[in-house]
Amino acid sequence: MSKVRTTCAYCGVGCGIVATPIGERSVTIAGDRDHPANFGKLCSKGTHLGETVGLEGRLLVPHIGDRAAGWDEALDLVATRMRDCIAEHGPDSVAFYVSGQLLTEDYYVANKLMKGFVGSGNIDTNSRLCMASAVAAHVMAFGEDVVPCNYDDLDAADLILLVGSNTAWCHPVIWQRIEKARERRGTRLVVIDPRRTETAEQADLHIPIAPDGDIALFNALLADMHQRGLVDPAALDRSVAVPEGFWDGLACDPGIDATLFARLADMVAAHPRTITLFSQGANQSVCGTDKGLAITNLHLATGRINRIGAGPFSITGQPNAMGGREVGGMANTLACHLGFSATELADAGTFWNAGQMCTGPGLKAVDMFRAVHDGRIRFLWVMATNPAVSMPDSTFVRAALAKCPTVVVSDVMADTDTGRFAHIRLPALAWGEKDGTVTNSERRISRQRALFAPPGETRADWRIVCDVAARLGWGSAFAFASPAAVFREYAAMTALAMRHGKKLDLTAWADLTDRAYEVLQPFQWGGEHPLANGYSTPDGKARLVAVQPPRTEADPAYPLRLNTGRYRDQWHTMTRTALSPTLSQHRREPLLEVNPADALAQGLSDGGLARVVTPHGRSIFRVSVTADQRRGDIFVPMHWTDTMAGEGRSNRLPGQGADPHSGQPGFKNGPARIEPVTPEWRGFLVTRDDPVPVGLLYWTRSRVAGSGAGSGSGGWLYELAGDGAIDSAALLPTGDVLEAADPVRGMRRIAVRGPGGSLAAALFVTRSGTLPPREWVADQLGSDDASPVELLAGRPSTPAPDRGAIVCVCHGVGDRAITAAVDAGAATVEAIGAATCAGTNCGSCRPAIARLLEAAIAKPTEQAA
Ligand code: SF4
Repeated sequence: MSKVRTTCAYCGVGCGIVATPIGERSVTIAGDRDHPANFGKLCSKGTHLGETVGLEGRLLVPHIGDRAAGWDEALDLVATRMRDCIAEHGPDSVAFYVSGQLLTEDYYVANKLMKGFVGSGNIDTNSRLCMASAVAAHVMAFGEDVVPCNYDDLDAADLILLVGSNTAWCHPVIWQRIEKARERRGTRLVVIDPRRTETAEQADLHIPIAPDGDIALFNALLADMHQRGLVDPAALDRSVAVPEGFWDGLACDPGIDATLFARLADMVAAHPRTITLFSQGANQSVCGTDKGLAITNLHLATGRINRIGAGPFSITGQPNAMGGREVGGMANTLACHLGFSATELADAGTFWNAGQMCTGPGLKAVDMFRAVHDGRIRFLWVMATNPAVSMPDSTFVRAALAKCPTVVVSDVMADTDTGRFAHIRLPALAWGEKDGTVTNSERRISRQRALFAPPGETRADWRIVCDVAARLGWGSAFAFASPAAVFREYAAMTALAMRHGKKLDLTAWADLTDRAYEVLQPFQWGGEHPLANGYSTPDGKARLVAVQPPRTEADPAYPLRLNTGRYRDQWHTMTRTALSPTLSQHRREPLLEVNPADALAQGLSDGGLARVVTPHGRSIFRVSVTADQRRGDIFVPMHWTDTMAGEGRSNRLPGQGADPHSGQPGFKNGPARIEPVTPEWRGFLVTRDDPVPVGLLYWTRSRVAGSGAGSGSGGWLYELAGDGAIDSAALLPTGDVLEAADPVRGMRRIAVRGPGGSLAAALFVTRSGTLPPREWVADQLGSDDASPVELLAGRPSTPAPDRGAIVCVCHGVGDRAITAAVDAGAATVEAIGAATCAGTNCGSCRPAIARLLEAAIAKPTEQAA
């Protein structure tokens, strides 16, 4: 067993991992203590990567329609369809929609093929949905998409402002770094977010702004700093260009209570070492670029940038969103941070020895799918992403995919919502099989290394693209022998970026040998503060850009504001994380979070069902009534798909409205209304199989380990609700059936034993009664010892303590055990860890434990009051 140093598959923190493969498809995972992004830490998703590396559900051979095909046949067909489409309808009738899951080498060849040989700019990436607004703000303020900070700055900051970032859930290892800085040096923390998240709960100050209230707040803050004399005109003049009338246009209502604003302004004024970390809450907005600019204006004007512990810091969602930005995977970048001027196009064309260069930017994601819908794009190749779920107005996107004459999907999974629209499916390598590089949020390039041999006939994405390019007659430009060869060409191409005044410079790695690439250590391009010696503008100065708060028109038909986002233990469209029984414990269903007053007004009850309706779609969710939501705002998660649920699909709901500069859709502030859904019956199913329920009002499923363990074992826990009779035969496997019924309560309990006598499935349905504990039933799946009498009674003869909602997935600790530990005297998160083990492994649940601790401590005071 040899250890392999690689990088996490998930978020943009880019944590280093030491993986030890065991046998053909198992691996133990540990944090890499030497990796500068995480120093050995991993969150729950990274820690449990080993549960997702099995071959369950994998696409292992190419498919044309529903039939398996050989690579030659599939690639010939892709090339023929692409060539015919270009010949008949022109280069812009072809598009690639790619992903921050691709490695930099994959991105580079896909971009080169589209922009240098097909002759179109039509390659865009799902990073458009993630941080395109930060990119646009960087380009407008700095002249180039450069992140001016790095993680070390978090250790040195005196004040950290988190804007639109549930860091504790979405970038947990960054969060742990912030926690450490607070402990070590008393760093102050402010969270600016409409929601009281677990992150906000832990802050020194939570500013619950209205949705899209960021611009007003940051304009008001900068006006306040200006008034306090914290803007040094001479220093500003040396490095920043200020437009005429800029200061006059700043003053505005901050949009929050005056006392709260004064506290915030005092904190900002007192701490020149300020980092503003911003994420999807800021970016996923129709005014996301202006938010990034408002934040950047504050830093530029007060000199809080290019210094240790200071700067505006956009953190990315995906593992290689940054790599894609660098090579040019976005439709509005040519390659290597170049734009589309005549000289930049000519230089790139010469470098590539291009067959046919594009002439300008391509279509950004939302416009790309509009063009698919109206027939301008007739050939679409989707790589490593699931736009049928993740794009806004997904009903429209699905209609577009259904109309498109050729949809090619390269993916690791056989059944995805997008794959169902594909004419040709190409099996790609998954994490653990890929070999290449990724760039994290702080510009640090790390290697992802293969742990396993490619399964079936899977191939690397870069190889698939090169194979198609060769069939189109461009083989010599795509004759790469290895990812190292691709990386060398990309690194050499960054010489053009420098020629055009950019900072991106990897030329020192352009002659890397294969061996040196193999052992490449993580490195950060641009150093710690790449803009310290000037910006990438013609005069070397940054730009303050005047921005104004948006106006939101009220619509009486949709009186609420809809926000969407991530869960702690799930990743994007769940194609991998949903394979993990451990990760599935944290949130088994998509919850509609709603303020108690709104729930009361609409007749919604906690734990019931409700429908969210917008002008674009509707979907049903489980209700969670919580004061963490502002009145008038609701929240639903982004993850659930058709393969995981009949409802709970958030992306049916937002419209296609996008930021005018970045093209990033507004997922965070859409019009909505809610209404109760009252099914005649509700229930749950635990089963080794994975039936697709039909005709139900609501169903979702999640992984359970059963009495087995590890990837591919166990089964599924389904939540069900419906009207009329339930077709139990359609849900249950064949076997030895035992059934109990109580017609008065409309209760049915059915257990099915498989050939060996072990429990194969159990179904519980009721119209008015209570249901047995799900986890108890799920734990018996696959067990030979499951008692039919106990199952049909709906309770164990010796009841195990109810764990409540699972908080710590690593150790399976629920909220009841944590509250009991507090009642028994545990007064700190550490003491709770010592008593229960909760929070003592990856630490991702520590904010949730802290929240429970605070609630338990506050309870007697509230009662006394
Ligand atoms: Fe992976 Fe978690 Fe690190 Fe993100 S924070 S890279 S998901 S281990």
